[in-house]
Amino acid sequence: MIRVAVTHEHDAVPSSPPPDGASTPPSPASPGHGELRAIAAAFEAAQALRLSTGEQIRALAQGRAGNGAARPVAADADALLARIRAGASPGPVPALGEAYRRCWSDERELLRRMSDHVARHPTWPWLGRVRGVGPSLGARLLARLEIERAPTPSSFWSYCGLATVSADLFRCAACGYELALPAGQPLRAGHRVPGTSDACAGMLAPAGESPRRVAQPRPARGGSAPYDRDAKTLCYLIGTSLVRQGDAYERYYRAQRARLDAEKPDWIPRRRHLTALRMTEKLFLAHLWLVWRERLGLPITAPYAEARDDAVAAPRPWSMVGA
Ligand SMILES: [Zn+2]
Repeated sequence: MIRVAVTHEHDAVPSSPPPDGASTPPSPASPGHGELRAIAAAFEAAQALRLSTGEQIRALAQGRAGNGAARPVAADADALLARIRAGASPGPVPALGEAYRRCWSDERELLRRMSDHVARHPTWPWLGRVRGVGPSLGARLLARLEIERAPTPSSFWSYCGLATVSADLFRCAACGYELALPAGQPLRAGHRVPGTSDACAGMLAPAGESPRRVAQPRPARGGSAPYDRDAKTLCYLIGTSLVRQGDAYERYYRAQRARLDAEKPDWIPRRRHLTALRMTEKLFLAHLWLVWRERLGLPITAPYAEARDDAVAAPRPWSMVGA
């Protein structure tokens, strides 16, 4: 991902794609994509700097930095930061307060530009109507995706770390415990007897059944991610937001959650939640893919041919947004 350092208020907005954008030749189908990427990266850098400066001020205000000040509760620190943003207080250290306010102003200006830019994006007539996805999350996700390089919806899924991979199934002959692991992942020793907290003395052995699919594994420690971690985080934030206020996507989540509650009673609730959430994120991404390809006149595969393993019924993108 491109990172643009934010130094001064007016240096923050790149007027042209950054030099390393040259490594990916601009596509005729996505004019302005490099610019969107640069603005989104600058926004994220400004936001990260604002948050870390705010954290410094919070630590000072709460006396955690050892200056002997009184210790207001967290709510007071939030109120103080709000006053600094509004220019109503310099904060405990004026230079820091000033830097914080400048970051905030950079961030807002970049958000404004990002919103203007994304409003012209080919997917915006649809995306802008999906409740729960505002210009900030929407633009930052679009900035990371390249539609011309995604011949199927599953291209987006694997780029965002939401794909499934084939798995090996293991079973314990003593207690019946089953475990599906991404193919090739080493088996850890020890397991509990299902439904109890008792360690089982039995051994897991390959069950040798038809291959299953499981979530794309996290990279091993020290390994590089096979997907874009920032894109995965954005999908998680979007999924969470959709489920909170997303109308049709929220209903889809609830239907999948109810199905998993009935079909997978042995899973802990959090696993059922995360699985239903991931399915919702995948449906949203498949819809985004479909709308984007259609708007650009790019070839469309059977949209949900890749979704078999999730047994997804396939609502259409435009049915998910209000009239
Ligand atoms: Zn066992």
